Amino acid sequence: MCGIVGYIGYEQAAPFLLSGLEKLEYRGYDSAGICLNDGKELIVKKTKGKLLELKKLTNNGADINGTVGIGHTRWATHGEPSDVNAHPHLSDSCRFAVVHNGIIENYLQLKDYLISKGMTFRSKTDTEVIAQLIEFYYDGDLVDTVIKVLGKLDGSYALGVISRDCPDEIIAVRKESPLIIGLGENENYIASDVPAILAKTRNIYRLENNEIAILRRDGVKIINTDREDVVKKIETINWDIDAAEKGGYEHFMFKEIMEQPKAIHDTVAPRIKNGRVVLDEINLTPEQFKGFNKINILACGSAYHVGVVAKYVFEKYLRIPVEADLASEFRYRDPIVNEKTLTIVISQSGETADTKEAMKEAKRRGSHVISIVNVVGSAIACESDDVIYTWAGPEIAVATTKAYSTQLAVVYLMAIYFGDILGTVKKDQYDELVSELLSLPEKIKTVLANEEKVQYLASKLFNCMDVFFIGRNIDYALSLEGSLKLKEISYIHSEAYAAGELKHGTISLIEDGTLVIALATHEPLIAKTISNMEEVRTRGANVLCLACEDHKEIESVAQNTIFIPKCCDMMLPSLAVVPLQLFAYYVASLKGCDIDKPRNLAKSVTVE
Ligand code: GLU
Repeated sequence: MCGIVGYIGYEQAAPFLLSGLEKLEYRGYDSAGICLNDGKELIVKKTKGKLLELKKLTNNGADINGTVGIGHTRWATHGEPSDVNAHPHLSDSCRFAVVHNGIIENYLQLKDYLISKGMTFRSKTDTEVIAQLIEFYYDGDLVDTVIKVLGKLDGSYALGVISRDCPDEIIAVRKESPLIIGLGENENYIASDVPAILAKTRNIYRLENNEIAILRRDGVKIINTDREDVVKKIETINWDIDAAEKGGYEHFMFKEIMEQPKAIHDTVAPRIKNGRVVLDEINLTPEQFKGFNKINILACGSAYHVGVVAKYVFEKYLRIPVEADLASEFRYRDPIVNEKTLTIVISQSGETADTKEAMKEAKRRGSHVISIVNVVGSAIACESDDVIYTWAGPEIAVATTKAYSTQLAVVYLMAIYFGDILGTVKKDQYDELVSELLSLPEKIKTVLANEEKVQYLASKLFNCMDVFFIGRNIDYALSLEGSLKLKEISYIHSEAYAAGELKHGTISLIEDGTLVIALATHEPLIAKTISNMEEVRTRGANVLCLACEDHKEIESVAQNTIFIPKCCDMMLPSLAVVPLQLFAYYVASLKGCDIDKPRNLAKSVTVE
């Protein structure tokens, strides 16, 4: 998410801060700001919108003096994009300024506490509590105070801190959000990513979790939270700026595939407190929820495929009829929707025109709408009754990966939360589902570690002309996404079929060498899917099967196999989608396609 930069040296800081933020624009943002110590006080300039606005506001930086400063491009998670919510945030008496990337999970408790102690808050962000806590606990030693404050924070953060009274120091620290330190001659820098500092230096430290960097003009000291020195190796960056933007990878899509464990963790962890799912964003009483007799899910593209998974998940755990509808069809078919229908709309951008209009139609008919959206303050987020944000951070590749995965994670959170209200998810099952959900990021890491196998399979199969993805139950829902991923970025014709449906017509298309990707993760139906694999194999198909690691017998049915770890049945799509994303990625790469910007597609589809 977002971009952080910082400068301490003998030059004017503002021009570097602005150009550094510019180099981080590719990460996506909704507002920007800088803060400099001008020798007397902390001067903040910040604004909603593009960097151009900030440049105008500061006369390209010329209007703010100071040789130490911090800057930020924000991707809102708490509080809409606005001037006041933009970073940097000042403490009550304007003595300390903070830029933050990440989410402070316990900010509400901290905020309440500080308000009870007489502090006043200006913004709706989680970040502001950090500046306020520093002021509240300040004991004359900024490093000590920051360490003390870190002990109070739950969540993820990369932080840059400056103080009115310490014009010779920037403090930087990180936990679960990236932050690097750039090492220059008589000047040093902080940044959330390499491109921001490449014009100045190629020598960096990568901060690890809970390491604290104290930057002065003549050097950088790194310590741990016990104030012990940490000896770090200087890393020299050899990438060019283009590769640096993508974290050293060739494409944003690959970077985003790799970011999925963190994105899911960021979306789930803040909503699980003491083993309980807490969805404060939902303003429905248990009684209101019990009054619904149907759930309608409205979405387009990959978000619709999340809706199809959700249909299986909700029907299993909530025992309510669920319809997953293509938003573009829903609004024109006189749907049966009323105040007893709960509508869930899903959209990464929150601006998808078809989904927005379908949502309005559902509202007109009296339905309560909960949206699952990645962009804070977007139209769908604002117009729905309740919104649950996915905290995937900005997604840049047109083909979605981490947004899809975080939408799925929200579906599981909702299933557990509402299942508890309805009494359809019992205590033991509740605990098991929560623990499975929390373990997804680690399991996805093990799937990602197997990416070379997928790359190898892609190199064997990338010349195929037609592909059929087949599966049953949630594997069918997943096959829709696997097929879309492949066709949207590799331009190979592919179709998704319920495995049992193929024999009712489409099997006539299977001939020698046709690639069939069979998804066989759903335990109760594996035997059935194996039969369907046999059916296509006897007709000449080349079968690639994706299954859980305890089903090695699949190796005798399919020519090629990919295995994933086991997890609770309904959450398997979160693991199984990863090899499918990687397969699509590698096939597209071998075919030389424009992976991040496939032809004819746009990231946010704001037309009907
Ligand atoms: N959670 C913070 C906010 O919403 C930081 C967001 C970011 O990483 O840009 O202001």
